[in-house]
Amino acid sequence: MASLITCPHCGIRPKEEFSIRGDASPVRPVATASDDAWYVYVFVRDNSKGRIIEHWHHSAGCRRWLVVERDNAASHEVYSVTDASVHAKGAAR
Ligand SMILES: [Zn+2]
Repeated sequence: MASLITCPHCGIRPKEEFSIRGDASPVRPVATASDDAWYVYVFVRDNSKGRIIEHWHHSAGCRRWLVVERDNAASHEVYSVTDASVHAKGAAR
């Protein structure tokens, strides 16, 4: 796992300052969506290998939620770190 994360608010920080929530790729269904759509959103995950996006919380820093795109297989390279609110605005378009 990458040992340094560049927080968009705090700069380069050690990974120990962050808490990982998990996969950031599922899109929240609308409130009136079917039970099956909510089941998939809440419980079903791909457990992908390779380039993934995850929600990370900078719990020992700015306390902002971030979206970290990284490789979880061989290189553990971090490709991008974006504030989750900025990421959500981009996904809503
Ligand atoms: Zn931060």
